[in-house]
Amino acid sequence: MTRKWRNWAGNQHSRPIALARPKTEQDVVDAVRRATQSGMRVKATGSGHSFTDISKPDEMMLDMSSLNAVIEIDPVNGVVRVQSGIVLSELNMYLESHGLSMPNLGDVTYQTLAGAMSTSTHGTGLLRTGLAAQILGFKMVVATGEIITCSTEENQEVFHCGRVSLGALGIITEYSIRVVPLFNLHAVERPMLISDVVSQFEQLIKNNDFFEFYWIPHTKWALTKANNVTNLPADPPARFSTWIHKIVLENIAFGMLCRIGRVAPSLIPRFATLLPGAGRVEFVNVSHRVFSSKRLVKFYEMEYSISISAVGRALNEIMQMIEQRDLKISFPIEVRSTGADDIPLSTSTGRESAYIAVHMYQGCDYDEYFKAVEEILVRYEGRPHWGKLHYMDGTQLSSLYPEYQRFIEVRNQLDPEGVFTNDYLRRVLGR
Ligand SMILES: Cc1cc2nc3c(=O)[nH]c(=O)nc-3n(C[C@H](O)[C@H](O)[C@H](O)COP(=O)(O)OP(=O)(O)OC[C@H]3O[C@@H](n4cnc5c(N)ncnc54)[C@H](O)[C@@H]3O)c2cc1C
Repeated sequence: MTRKWRNWAGNQHSRPIALARPKTEQDVVDAVRRATQSGMRVKATGSGHSFTDISKPDEMMLDMSSLNAVIEIDPVNGVVRVQSGIVLSELNMYLESHGLSMPNLGDVTYQTLAGAMSTSTHGTGLLRTGLAAQILGFKMVVATGEIITCSTEENQEVFHCGRVSLGALGIITEYSIRVVPLFNLHAVERPMLISDVVSQFEQLIKNNDFFEFYWIPHTKWALTKANNVTNLPADPPARFSTWIHKIVLENIAFGMLCRIGRVAPSLIPRFATLLPGAGRVEFVNVSHRVFSSKRLVKFYEMEYSISISAVGRALNEIMQMIEQRDLKISFPIEVRSTGADDIPLSTSTGRESAYIAVHMYQGCDYDEYFKAVEEILVRYEGRPHWGKLHYMDGTQLSSLYPEYQRFIEVRNQLDPEGVFTNDYLRRVLGR
């Protein structure tokens, strides 16, 4: 029987030979043992929200979606122990009902916890890190079928490297993560001139808890989002106006413009001038409802982390490149930032980082645009998001991560035969 796997964006697909849907940790052990005995490689899959083939299963696919329970919660110390296949939106609802919250999130919550952690998923906010820096410990089934527990006290080296594992070290069955008391955010979304945003970028990210902006190609405008922690009670915009803003404008109308733009790219610059008209929106809501929103328009994405001081220069180069090549780009370019962490394969390891993300509507050819952007960002020592499209290989990546070799050594010890490898890992890790 053939099985099909495909990712959310639809640009990666495969027909794994075998499928396992573990419901317990022991089921994971059994599946890994079964696979190794019959010489199959194993790939754990989350929600398929990576654009790269990082989670592409070729031989045995481990669908982790049934390992999704909260095991233990310690509100006093702000720690939750949870199975790795839980979807972030479910975890957020559970935490909210206990007066707790993740300290930071990306802009959607469809991902599984393990998927998000494994690719160094992040949101924005200089005072916060990417999600993986909140990991206090995890349990993992390794290639021998053994279960190991990793934390700052046990298997420290595996813990150090395995917080962002790319799925290359073993199958993670549960995490202990740091959570914080539930908090509200005061959100202000408004258009600004891109020249002002770029010249004030360092102040904007210092003066706001969570700041990001979207430059609209072919215009002088950026849409900015400044979210600050507040004690004010939640006062979300009325359901109808949220529906108009988030679903109709950001998804349905935008999707329609993208579809027209795919057929008639020359119209894109004219449509682009409509986007800043979204105007100013201000509200207070629970943090996870502010951080994330629905994404109904499908796209392809590439994102690089660079140092914060390079954002203005890098963005200017990208703007010039778009003009010189006469590219027609219907999706805004997103810019975020986070604090530094110490995780070997985290995109913000050892440096405060800014992130520049470029997108292309599903079905459009992205190669020329993404390659040209990559060429620019590589000159700024850019590190690609592991779950988003890029063209780099292990030789280039090893010089961007000071502890790349440390990760490779842990991998060599835990998975010498490459039970958990696939084409993507061969490209970025060398085997
Ligand atoms: C619409 C959209 C919005 C996004 N927004 C953001 C954003 O704001 N910020 C950001 O940083 N990224 C963002 N991403 C990227 C996304 O967060 C990552 O690609 C993430 O890895 C997807 O999680 P997933 O559950 O779909 O995992 P998958 O893509 O299915 O898997 C990712 C990796 O995790 C591994 N894995 C999964 N489960 C396990 C396990 N139990 N044990 C070991 N390894 C495992 C897989 O093998 C694979 O290597 C976005 C993606 C999309 C499509």
